[in-house]
Amino acid sequence: MSLQTRIDEISRVYKAYSRRLEKLGIKTLEDFLYHIPFRYENYSLISPIANVQEGEIVTVKGTVTTFQNQYTRSRKTIQKAVISDSTGNLEVIWFNQPYLSRVIHEGESLSLSGKVKFFARKIVLESPEYEIVLENQPTLHTGRLVPIYSETRGVSSKWLRRQVFKILSDSKGDLVDYLPETVRKKLNLEELQNALWNVHFPETIDLVDSARERLGFDELLLVQLASLSRKSKWENQLKAVPFEISNFKQKIEEFWEQLPFELTGAQKKAVGDIFKDLASSKPMNRLLEGDVGSGKTVVSAIAMYLAHLNGYQSTLMAPTEILANQHFRTISNLLTPLKVKVDLATGSKKLKKDDFNILIGTHALLNKKVQFNKLGLVVIDEQQRFGVEQRAIIREKGKSPHLLTMTATPIPRTVALTLYGDLDLSFLDEMPKGRQIIKTWLVPDTKRADAYAWIEKQIKDTKSQAFIICPFIEESESMQTVRAATKEYEYLKNEVFPTLNLGLLHGKLKSKEKDTVLNDFKEKKHDILIATPVVEVGIDIPNATIMVIEASERFGLAQLHQLRGRVGRGNKQSYCLLFTESKNPQTTNRLKSLEITHVGAELAELDLRLRGPGDIYGTAQHGALQLKIASFSDFPLIEKTRKEAEELFSRISNFPLLQKKLNSLQLKQVSPD
Ligand code: ADP
Ligand code: MG
Repeated sequence: MSLQTRIDEISRVYKAYSRRLEKLGIKTLEDFLYHIPFRYENYSLISPIANVQEGEIVTVKGTVTTFQNQYTRSRKTIQKAVISDSTGNLEVIWFNQPYLSRVIHEGESLSLSGKVKFFARKIVLESPEYEIVLENQPTLHTGRLVPIYSETRGVSSKWLRRQVFKILSDSKGDLVDYLPETVRKKLNLEELQNALWNVHFPETIDLVDSARERLGFDELLLVQLASLSRKSKWENQLKAVPFEISNFKQKIEEFWEQLPFELTGAQKKAVGDIFKDLASSKPMNRLLEGDVGSGKTVVSAIAMYLAHLNGYQSTLMAPTEILANQHFRTISNLLTPLKVKVDLATGSKKLKKDDFNILIGTHALLNKKVQFNKLGLVVIDEQQRFGVEQRAIIREKGKSPHLLTMTATPIPRTVALTLYGDLDLSFLDEMPKGRQIIKTWLVPDTKRADAYAWIEKQIKDTKSQAFIICPFIEESESMQTVRAATKEYEYLKNEVFPTLNLGLLHGKLKSKEKDTVLNDFKEKKHDILIATPVVEVGIDIPNATIMVIEASERFGLAQLHQLRGRVGRGNKQSYCLLFTESKNPQTTNRLKSLEITHVGAELAELDLRLRGPGDIYGTAQHGALQLKIASFSDFPLIEKTRKEAEELFSRISNFPLLQKKLNSLQLKQVSPD
């Protein structure tokens, strides 16, 4: 049995707990050790019974002289014990814990920690933590700083504490420090075993800081080492077909020419980066990161066209049907005139023939039945929505095809470098010409009627269209969200905008229906589209110029920015109205930053500072990195660990322990769960 052993293989007891433990992210023995307490209860004041004072939180140790289970008049129970040491007796009470009579017996040595109170005119220890004192064994739940963990049903901190203690005690030989001593000394980092003991069972609270410092360092270091190692494997082990470019210069130029716009400098640069990668026998592994509306699709279309000219197929995978359909239309418009066969595969549109050159689709592309004769390029749009495995499956449909991933998730560059250290990055940091800043206002509830009147006038005067986004009620789109949107739609249609045409879009519509709604909106059959946040990714309707977001306080800034990015896509002035009922100045100030900031990465950085990393990556995030100890906003630590990771990786064969640790992490990453 090692620390990497999966808990369900260890014992029947653990097996029975494995589902629940998985909720806490615990799958192996080692995971227990990295289930870090989020606070500590201070029970370290140990007092002789005679000195106990009301109001104190103390620990007393003594013998149980009596134990009784009593019924109260209201049919509840009270458990009463008396505990004695050489200085005196103390009464102890618990409420409604009759099972204690099976746990606590007269004559036993107990250690108890809790608050001293007056009860029925006597001094008592009320509902304390308790444990039986065993010879030669430290107490875990009393008489010390006691770790408190995040728990789940049936898994209490008390239970976790016992497991962690046992695993730590048993695994001395297993827990070798993989960080070279020179690095530890240089950076003044604590030894690993110490750090783990001190983070779970610290003697003093000061020891927790240095323990966390060591563990946080490791966390970021290992993430970066793992990505360096992925990168070197990718570069050294995979061979791709290099694409020919110079022969096709003219064709590519013709393609440029027929575009209805001129590419931005950033797009041209990205195409340059991509072409360089595609001409190499190392498969491309590039992330195209660009704010909403920066024009990623056309960049990917050029790459797919080049693949086609070289006689290779391409595929483009998108996270939703709406988006896949839209890409299908865009790419077909661009490339069918050039005799490229573009096809579509989604949950509701099965693939019939396989004589396509470019196949666009959703997760449906992952299906075994979808096969390619000669897949040379894989494009994944909104890549953060796909898991590691899904990305692997699609790539395995070709022989190390080139890979282009795209995202609009605005993340600070430092975070991008940490998260995507193994990828080459291209940033589309320039918006297409003619785009104007989207005028954004936070609208107080008292101005709601005025705002509606303004929207109506705007739509009638400028023949433009509006989105109204209904609040985000639950993480994934539930019936509750759908009902709220439907109700809002009825209300707006009948009461507020009776003279306008309204459409409704939500995630529970059938794919055909969604498509119809969106098409109708695109063809201006609707003036206003009421939608749940499903429109968040990718939808492109250039004539829409007004975005209204209800209950905007429920969204992260980066997400609001994504929603706002659904307008301002043509060259008409566009507007974003944020509604909120919140009067909390912190909230309104946060939202107001959208009035002045229009750069996704900056908003993401603000989010990171104001709300923590969880919100940046969104809730539906698969395979996202969850840091337990360190933080993505700790830029100095990110820098420091990156430097160390590079240095260590360049000489990794000198550090067999570190190498072994790294391998075990990678095994974990690809394990199919
Ligand atoms: P995103 O990067 O968010 O995926 P899209 O690729 O959907 O953005 O492009 C947004 C809109 O901008 C589309 O309507 C597209 O045709 C248009 N577009 C792309 N590049 C340019 C450009 N260089 N000049 C003008 N419009 C462009
Ligand atoms: Mg897009």
